[in-house]
Amino acid sequence: MAASEPSDDSLPESLRFTAPAELVDIGANLTHESFSRDLEAVLQRARAANVTTLILTGTDLKHAEQAAELSRRFPGLRATAGIHPHDASQWTRTLETGLRDLYRQPEVVAVGECGLDFNRNFSSPVEQERAFEAQLGLAAESGLPLFLHERDAGSRMLDILHHWRNDITHAVVHCFTGERDTLYGYLDLDLHIGLTGWLCDERRGHHLRDLLRDIPLDRLMVETDCPYLLPRNLPAKLKGRRNEPALLPWIVREIAHWRGTDEAELAHATTVTARRFFRLEDT
Ligand SMILES: [Zn+2]
Repeated sequence: MAASEPSDDSLPESLRFTAPAELVDIGANLTHESFSRDLEAVLQRARAANVTTLILTGTDLKHAEQAAELSRRFPGLRATAGIHPHDASQWTRTLETGLRDLYRQPEVVAVGECGLDFNRNFSSPVEQERAFEAQLGLAAESGLPLFLHERDAGSRMLDILHHWRNDITHAVVHCFTGERDTLYGYLDLDLHIGLTGWLCDERRGHHLRDLLRDIPLDRLMVETDCPYLLPRNLPAKLKGRRNEPALLPWIVREIAHWRGTDEAELAHATTVTARRFFRLEDT
């Protein structure tokens, strides 16, 4: 146990909480510049917390290439590759070719992060839909599962996915924060749901807590979405506001509490689901 190593005595309690079963963090933005200085320490803390597999989110071509690179360098890492809806206006044929090359690499396990974000509209809705449809095409072509982002665009997302459902294999709506109707729409389409520390936030996570029992265990996966969304249920404040994979056990604890599920059972189930979803069994 890393907790017995002398160097860990200085770690805050939040970073020394070990999950009761191995966990997969399905959304870690470890190519974010905030991790550039201490990535190895972050990976070590994740392992000590029993977060043994990290799926690194590739949100544009450059970061997806970096994520694939890291996955080759360190054990327990895999990568996704896609264009985030914020960057959809940058979509070109050249980008598409770059992504297609990445999907041939064994470390790249999903198409995304892609989808629709009508909350901020950094790219116009038309540009977002164009890039999203192109990436749905790439998912259909490669057979890889999809890592989806949706904010304030649930009904449009459902329309588009309905159209594509028979052509794609699996898809997870990551960092789900939507309403009941949208959730049921996704589950009816046989999609998976990714949950973050959003629901540890007493200011805005309430409606989600009531929906947790409606998500079957074999469709539910967990993620930090780090460095964003630092969970608010930590026992003490961390220096800085950066979230990291070692904090995933706190999110699992919160979900288990509100779902009324045993923590170890939930931890184990999300890992079984994630390993099947990203086809990690045979690697
Ligand atoms: Zn996202």
